[in-house]
Amino acid sequence: MKFYRGTLAAWLVQLCIVFSAHAQQVPDQIYTNGKIITVDDYFSIQQAVAVKGERIIAVGNNDAITSLADAQTQRIDLAGKTMIPGLIDNHNHVVRATEYWPNDPRLDGVTTRSKALKILRNKSKTLPKGAWLMSLGGWQESQFIDSQADFTLAELDSIATDRPVILQSVYDHIYGNSAWFKAMGIPMSSSSTPIGKAQGLSQYVVWDDNGNATGRLNGGFPMISEAIKQFPSVPSDEQEDAIKLAFKYYNELGLTSVYDPGGVGIKQESYARTKQLADSEGITLRVFHTLNAGVPNSPEAADLLIKRIHSTKPFQGSAAFDLIAMGEIYYGPFHWDDELDAKSPSTFELSIGRKILEAAASQAWPVQTHAMQPETIDVLFDVMTDINKEFPLRQLRWSITHADNIGASQIQRARQLGVNLQMRSISVLGDRHQITEKFGDASLDMPPLRLIQDSGIPFGLGTDGTKANQISPFVTLWWAITGQALNGDLVMRQTLSREEALIAHTRSNAYLMFQEANLGSIRPGFMADMLVLDQDYLTIPEDQIKSIRPVATILGGRLVSGEL
Ligand SMILES: [Zn+2]
Repeated sequence: MKFYRGTLAAWLVQLCIVFSAHAQQVPDQIYTNGKIITVDDYFSIQQAVAVKGERIIAVGNNDAITSLADAQTQRIDLAGKTMIPGLIDNHNHVVRATEYWPNDPRLDGVTTRSKALKILRNKSKTLPKGAWLMSLGGWQESQFIDSQADFTLAELDSIATDRPVILQSVYDHIYGNSAWFKAMGIPMSSSSTPIGKAQGLSQYVVWDDNGNATGRLNGGFPMISEAIKQFPSVPSDEQEDAIKLAFKYYNELGLTSVYDPGGVGIKQESYARTKQLADSEGITLRVFHTLNAGVPNSPEAADLLIKRIHSTKPFQGSAAFDLIAMGEIYYGPFHWDDELDAKSPSTFELSIGRKILEAAASQAWPVQTHAMQPETIDVLFDVMTDINKEFPLRQLRWSITHADNIGASQIQRARQLGVNLQMRSISVLGDRHQITEKFGDASLDMPPLRLIQDSGIPFGLGTDGTKANQISPFVTLWWAITGQALNGDLVMRQTLSREEALIAHTRSNAYLMFQEANLGSIRPGFMADMLVLDQDYLTIPEDQIKSIRPVATILGGRLVSGEL
């Protein structure tokens, strides 16, 4: 009898466990009748997904998933549409972009000048009286098929006459309308003398043959840094809305997570503000960011950064907002090169770079390093090879970001060190003349995506938006698959398959951010970050991939843009 009671009790306990386990497994939503491109380890295609709370609990065929539902479960019929994991941009300066977002009419992926002008004029109509219209990069004239000529002053004034208009063509030049010249106090004739704050900028003005301002200012990075100091920021009571507006735009493009690398000109308080919003009411874009150091260029700034490396810890945040690495620029003279020239640091600069990296390795910080040229990367790898003897780097997943011109021997070294690569689609904007002049035919191997893919080292796709590049992930996928710029030119011959490109824009990026158990695939236990697409990514003609639009963007099981 005793034995029987014991067995019965055990049986009842068993029964309860089965029931409670089952109760936990009733999904809040099921999505059925879809073409679910899971991007799991087998790149398997399924029909249906079940979601509970913010996570996926099951993936399978229609019958299996439907059988999990009860009367309370929301049932979404995908009617044959394609679903993919939410896309992840591994290099996107989104937090900085929020600082001016409401005034920025984005021209991401726009292929005609006439459409660009239309977007600019329409945006101007929606802005409050006196507000500036500021198109802060992410485009270049070379992306337009109809005309790649300069914007004329007449065109600039056709956008608006009653408010300052400024258009920034990546980090190369800017245009201002007449109202902007007036607001800045810059004379529009070369015979007049500028006064006050106008003096600095007027040296960059491009004059026509009659000495009249064309609207254009040359001068690259130094000029743009100078100009932006004068731009009015979003008023403090509108800053939260600016973040929401920016993130909504990212969601509409199909982005659910970004790796934000800090960068030039970023304001520290922008991170604090975004974190505060994430912790209070929540945000619709997962932001994983670096210990944004701005651009340390002096030994004093390096010492300050080393102090922060010791006093701060990565991975203390949430699934929505987290500090996860150091970089992308931690010591300018050591590694901050550009598309044309490598950095060759002196012994002194090298020793400072080494000190920073040693501090990071000793404190187990992941690090991403901005570097584009093979010579810069080789110097870095020499330092990393030394550090690796004391602090094994593989587990820290250090990465080289951009790596546009990396070569076979550096890829081999990256593989040996366990260093990963964050690649960007910057050539999609089309202006390659300086790079072709310098590197000739080899410029078509920049970046060498095929070589990297075949090497087996982890790498992901991103943009380097919002200023240096456009930010649409479908434009990036299309570029990786076709090797084309928006204007139709072939700019990169080392292309990927659709499957490879999608993996690099989802689960590989999740790996680079230490999120491979949470993000980047549609599988049980993962966050329900998913896109329902208007077209089938795997079967539509290649050329249409860049115009794919998510009809619904789901973040942690919640619809954040579009409709179902
Ligand atoms: Zn960079």
